[in-house]
Amino acid sequence: MTAWRRQASEWLAAALQLVFPSHCPACGAAVDIPDAWCVDCLRELWRPRRLDLTERNMAHVRRCQVLTDYSGPVRLLLHGLKFQRRRANAAPLAWLAGLADEAELAGLWDNDTLAVPVPVSAGRLAERGYNQVTLIFAGWCRRQGIPWQEDCLSRRRATLPQWELDRRQRAENIKDAFVVNAPETVRGHSVLLVDDIVTTGRTFEECAAALREAGATAVSCLALAN
Ligand SMILES: [Zn+2]
Repeated sequence: MTAWRRQASEWLAAALQLVFPSHCPACGAAVDIPDAWCVDCLRELWRPRRLDLTERNMAHVRRCQVLTDYSGPVRLLLHGLKFQRRRANAAPLAWLAGLADEAELAGLWDNDTLAVPVPVSAGRLAERGYNQVTLIFAGWCRRQGIPWQEDCLSRRRATLPQWELDRRQRAENIKDAFVVNAPETVRGHSVLLVDDIVTTGRTFEECAAALREAGATAVSCLALAN
């Protein structure tokens, strides 16, 4: 983009901001930055932490990091994004994911790491029009310099939504459900696997097993919510 066009788009953004000030997606308080959450809501919901891998039996995962709870406004926004085609809900969730800084996530990736989103099935992708994980995390990964591998993984078959099932059914539902499309892409690389939600960890574990089988040196996981 040329300098004057960049300047013009900055002026336009500033003018729009005056006419349509931004609001916190959780409480509606005015905020200075588009898609931002207010400080009070962030204090409530920003809870970056590591999940216990042994407890979840995630043998192929080196580390699993989450950023917030799957509850309240995060749950509502994600639900709208995934099941009501509210694509605009992705912007405040991406802003939230963007808060994760290098200090919090130190060791989750290095120079040879590739970012791989957990895929949605072809049918669901056609119906929804997007993979919500890409809308939430691709920009953040690019800003960190982690190459984004959109089509690295795909679902071998349609699976039921994990949240509809009990623990045993979840394991069966997702078993061997993922395939690495181009193993030569991941061979010799570490992978940062990203998803919107992690619950039991079965989806991450199955994806990680497929990636390790394809030659990935290590797999770390990052989810927005748990
Ligand atoms: Zn708020």
